[in-house]
Amino acid sequence: MQLKYTLFYLLSIPLFGLTPQESLKELVDGNNRYVMDKLLYADHTSDRRLTLKQGQTPFAIVLSCSDSRVIPEIIFDQSTGNLFVVRIAGNVAGPVELESIEFAAKVFGSSMILVLGHESCGAVKAVTKDNIKDIPAIAALIQPAVKKGAKLELAIKDNVRYIVKTLKNNPDLKQLIDAKKLDCIGGYYKIQSGRVELLE
Ligand SMILES: [Zn+2]
Repeated sequence: MQLKYTLFYLLSIPLFGLTPQESLKELVDGNNRYVMDKLLYADHTSDRRLTLKQGQTPFAIVLSCSDSRVIPEIIFDQSTGNLFVVRIAGNVAGPVELESIEFAAKVFGSSMILVLGHESCGAVKAVTKDNIKDIPAIAALIQPAVKKGAKLELAIKDNVRYIVKTLKNNPDLKQLIDAKKLDCIGGYYKIQSGRVELLE
């Protein structure tokens, strides 16, 4: 771990001012700690809360599924104040989720957006099985990327890649991405290993 990060951890200061590459590295390092049972942030103390009294500077935005097994702060081993998280079944980016992501990128200066799909996602599975009566609005956002009968793992990854493309083409986000202040990448979370595979 780099020295400057060690200082942030020791002083319980939220990470800030990271480049997109540094933000991604922080997420990858945090996931490695989670996989190896070496969590730094397992103890969420009142000291940490006090450092956030004046405001927040989350270094990354995570768009993840509402699935109770996929909790970004835990699987990336991050403190309160470090991640701006949008959670919705199927990790879809409808108008409301998009607005939330744009807000964080513009106001807080978060430098990385991670779209996180996961193994055995029920929302994507419902679309592949054409059993969408309980989630019609969410399914409508997955269907451009996923066809009925598609293999589940492939469908989940296709859904993530489609959302990454959507976000990268959003005019407000594109401006930040072109200026190298922001980037967006997809990931696939494996429930048993806890590992997040990055999707190119
Ligand atoms: Zn899911």
